[in-house]
Amino acid sequence: MKIELLNKENETTTLLLKETNPTEVNMLRRLIVDEVPTLAIEDVTFIDNSSALYDEIVAHRLGLIILKTDLESYNLPSECKGKKKDEEVCTKENCPHHSLLLKLEAKSDDKRQKESKGYVYAEEIESKDKVVKPVHPKTPIVKIIKKQRIEVEARAVMGQGKDHMKFSPGLVHYKGYPTIKIGDIKNADAISELCPAKVFKVANGKLKVDDEKKCILCKACVEASDDKIEIKGSNEDFILTIESWGQLTAKEMLLKALDIMDSKLDEFEKQIKKL
Ligand code: SF4
Ligand SMILES: [Zn+2]
Repeated sequence: MKIELLNKENETTTLLLKETNPTEVNMLRRLIVDEVPTLAIEDVTFIDNSSALYDEIVAHRLGLIILKTDLESYNLPSECKGKKKDEEVCTKENCPHHSLLLKLEAKSDDKRQKESKGYVYAEEIESKDKVVKPVHPKTPIVKIIKKQRIEVEARAVMGQGKDHMKFSPGLVHYKGYPTIKIGDIKNADAISELCPAKVFKVANGKLKVDDEKKCILCKACVEASDDKIEIKGSNEDFILTIESWGQLTAKEMLLKALDIMDSKLDEFEKQIKKL
């Protein structure tokens, strides 16, 4: 497999994977979405909550806050260095290798709450780890009004998207590299206009491909041209797009996915040797 960076913009990275097949590309996608671990809030202890929202709603919102994750310092409980030899998962309470305690406290008469008109934002979550903090500081958690107060302790743990999507590090999708052949077209302007991905341009009344990479293989142009346009997605070259939610970069996700694949193959080898 050959890999080439096509585009990197904000949280979205687009790669060209060449000389491969749909199985390998889909395996990479599944590993990232389901298995690459991240930190997310799992347990919340309410010390006080006199806001209008029930504890359950606040806990649910906290669970969905995206936390920057440091894969060097944190591991899944099943791979935690704090676990005992006979344990399948680490059961150590407050284990710093797979979890982190966060705190949130806000009162209606705090200067900060007065400035934010009562909105309590994710940026108010206190973390002892400088790396692990909310990726989107202005995520609203709750609004407190006069004489209301909220105080919680929240435990973030490492988890995987296959257990809960809140742990999934991003959205990953792919398509076969598009090939576009244009025949004798009479309605160039109309076709250029109808393409949802703006793949075509019209020069001297003729329809031309401006950027085939943008094609989403919807085939609307094929229908509108009475099959004078041919569209084909490659079965060997693929455009893979990784949209990170922010916990990890696309590079971190890919490297971790390969690590996971390696350990799965090692495990498979062990199983075969036992036969
Ligand atoms: S298949 Fe769809 S996206 Fe691709 S060129 Fe045709 S209309 Fe545009
Ligand atoms: Zn642990």
